Amino acid sequence: MTDITCVRCGKTGHAIHGPTLPGELGQRILDTICEECWTLWKRQQTQVINHFHLDLRDPEARKNLTQQTETFLFGAGKS
Ligand SMILES: [Zn+2]
Repeated sequence: MTDITCVRCGKTGHAIHGPTLPGELGQRILDTICEECWTLWKRQQTQVINHFHLDLRDPEARKNLTQQTETFLFGAGKS
């Protein structure tokens, strides 16, 4: 089991076990986010999908969700 220092909570914890998201963002999540924060996001994500009635077959909805994922995990204030 690999330990990583999470950029979101600052704790050193278990790396995420299993797939996250496809592409570059998914790799970034695997490299820098702990399993605990990922679990928090997965719970939050369900609420976001329900709240905004996101249909994930819709590319716009997926884009929206990807943005929310980034904001949740890496913060909104990135320049
Ligand atoms: Zn974390």
